[in-house]
Amino acid sequence: MNIQEKMEKYLGKPVAQAENAEIYHALLNIVQGMAAENERTDSKKKVYYISAEFLIGKLLSNNMINLGIYGEVKDILEKNGKDIGEIEEIEPEPSLGNGGLGRLAACFLDSIATLGLAGDGIGLNYHLGLFKQVFENNLQKETPNPWIEKDSWLKKTDVTYPVEFKGLKVNARMYDVEVTGYNNKTNKLHLFDLDSVDDTIVEDGIDFNKEDIEKNLTLFLYPDDSDEQGRLLRIYQQYFMVSSGAQLILDECTAKGSNLYDLPDYAVIQINDTHPTMVIPELIRLLMARGMDMDDAIDVVSRTCAYTNHTILAEALEKWPVYYLKKVVPQLVPIIEVLDDKVRRKFEDESVAIIDRNDTVHMAHIDIHYGFSVNGVAALHTEILKNSELNNFYKIYPEKFNNKTNGITFRRWLLHCNPRLTAFLDETIGEGYKKDASELEKLLQFKDDEKVLEKLLDIKRKNKEALCAYLKETQNVEISPDTIFDIQVKRLHEYKRQQLNALYIIDKYLEIKAGKIPAAPVTAIFGAKAAPAYVIAKDIIHLILCLQEIINNDPEVSPYLKVVMVENYNVTKAGKLIPACDISEQISLASKEASGTGNMKFMLNGAVTLGTEDGANVEIHECVGDDNIFVFGASSDEVIEHYAKADYVAKDYYEDNPAIKAAVDFITSDEMLEVGCEENLERLQKELINKDWFMTLLDFDSYKETKEKALEAYADRKEWAKKALVNIAKAGFFSSDRTIEEYNRDIWHL
Ligand SMILES: *Cc1c(COP(=O)(O)O)cnc(C)c1O
Repeated sequence: MNIQEKMEKYLGKPVAQAENAEIYHALLNIVQGMAAENERTDSKKKVYYISAEFLIGKLLSNNMINLGIYGEVKDILEKNGKDIGEIEEIEPEPSLGNGGLGRLAACFLDSIATLGLAGDGIGLNYHLGLFKQVFENNLQKETPNPWIEKDSWLKKTDVTYPVEFKGLKVNARMYDVEVTGYNNKTNKLHLFDLDSVDDTIVEDGIDFNKEDIEKNLTLFLYPDDSDEQGRLLRIYQQYFMVSSGAQLILDECTAKGSNLYDLPDYAVIQINDTHPTMVIPELIRLLMARGMDMDDAIDVVSRTCAYTNHTILAEALEKWPVYYLKKVVPQLVPIIEVLDDKVRRKFEDESVAIIDRNDTVHMAHIDIHYGFSVNGVAALHTEILKNSELNNFYKIYPEKFNNKTNGITFRRWLLHCNPRLTAFLDETIGEGYKKDASELEKLLQFKDDEKVLEKLLDIKRKNKEALCAYLKETQNVEISPDTIFDIQVKRLHEYKRQQLNALYIIDKYLEIKAGKIPAAPVTAIFGAKAAPAYVIAKDIIHLILCLQEIINNDPEVSPYLKVVMVENYNVTKAGKLIPACDISEQISLASKEASGTGNMKFMLNGAVTLGTEDGANVEIHECVGDDNIFVFGASSDEVIEHYAKADYVAKDYYEDNPAIKAAVDFITSDEMLEVGCEENLERLQKELINKDWFMTLLDFDSYKETKEKALEAYADRKEWAKKALVNIAKAGFFSSDRTIEEYNRDIWHL
């Protein structure tokens, strides 16, 4: 049966007569059948990628691309008067992650399957995801994001595991999502859930009773942890995930013949950040329950687990009071005490202890002592870990430390999101780059080819027009493709410095009001969710939304400057924004962004980076050279020194620099107070003047100067197209296929 016949058999009618929703379900069904046929059954050793987040995005089109039927289906739909874009709209987007870390896990699963490696994901089935962001009165409001439907990618299995908390025994149920490889086998994402979870306990917004564990355990991803109940729930979630995952791993390995002493021959567990750290003591506990003595269990587990560090932000490295663990998972406490005791016997250095003098458990320390590999996620990040943040550990275990620069799957971030560029690359350099991303460099030979450069500009123009239409339809904002699209989309965090971009916009606004007309009109586009309890982050969203209202409605300014804050930034929106970008804003305070992956997506789609020497920006700079990137700001060494000396004083910059003073003062101007809330705006202004922990004002001048240069450079269309071409051609290094090959070569050995 060909695909059209399969569709019509499922539909019971011709494609032309079916509704979009019916077609979506027919395709879902067909794709699932095809994916299951490719399921892997033959591996001895497998990697288990365990992560609290998998930001998978919509799956239909990507699975069709990976199975090689996307083009055919698109044609069938077109012939029958249907539009694949409209069918994609039917699929709900799960929000099983916050941002980069969860998206990385999703890209990695794609690459593991694409490289033909045996590797499954282990995570949680959050019913309502993170949250759906809506804007009301220029403020972020959180609402639930339900995504599970009767007929979805999620397959309920009969596999269940008992999980025991203090005073509460539950049964974890496993759900599976097929992970298709590009022209290759199918792996799985295992998501654990609890049958008793009850979506109806959600009250206003995303509030719910945090103590009713049987009803709330997998409702939301990391619910508000600003209070103790929230933090305890997080421990419940983490233990639920790792205990079920560990039981699954031991079951699969014993079924394949492992005697458990040889577990490392059957399994390698990649711990994605510290959230799954309890898998280490839990595995030790389970092995002991199966008769192994403790020292052997510790040894086996230490040779099975590997840890990826994602951040040097102190507040993000998890630390749990022993008393929390005693309340939720008392069975792990004696094991963690032994792990700490062994460390203390070997090393005098208090800073490498697992349980500190305040009876707090440092989760990352468990991973480092009792895992065999510790990796950072970009060259600079790994160096900072080795030389400062984790230097005391590096001195003990230099052999454990290694770098794995992050990557992105080109199937989603080029083939799917930018079909125009993909088709052009196919014509120009052949299709080899789809399996071997380094072949994108073939494009370099066309660097001076006028036709190729013209075509790249034309593709960008069409993508910008498509984004204009999308934003008009979804948010009713009107922007022009004749302006420069300057885009900053990522989670809202002070270290990412959306506030720096906002201060630049205020400065520009004031200049225009004073009669200084810019050479080229700019559209500043933002997209960002803020954590529900992160007050200043929400204030920054408020600032941007207020600026949007003021500037876009000012007839003197809006011909030259517009601001758009895209609501509910997610994977789907990323796929529409990134191909339309001219300037990619990657302006974190140097040393603070471990890697970034948004930067890579933009580069691959021919945007030029405006960024600090931070995270993978450093490697992007090395790849494209000085002429094809705009770099500014204090270096990571300078920043680290400022922190060490505690000598950065924001107020000095505010008082000494009239442009900074005017921009910061504007935050509480009459214009702003007319559209915004005084409390929020004043709080943010005070924060910038009196604290500014991420040194926004330090980099203001350098940012402004470099941004002006980028905007000027844009005017020379041919030179700009060359920059775009070099960025695309040099993006091959940032394929997650390359990253996963390195993980396998150095850590997993599958
Ligand atoms: C890639 C991606 C991110 C990560 O962006 P950064 O700029 O690296 O922080 C966050 N959210 C979504 C939806 C993404 O696709």
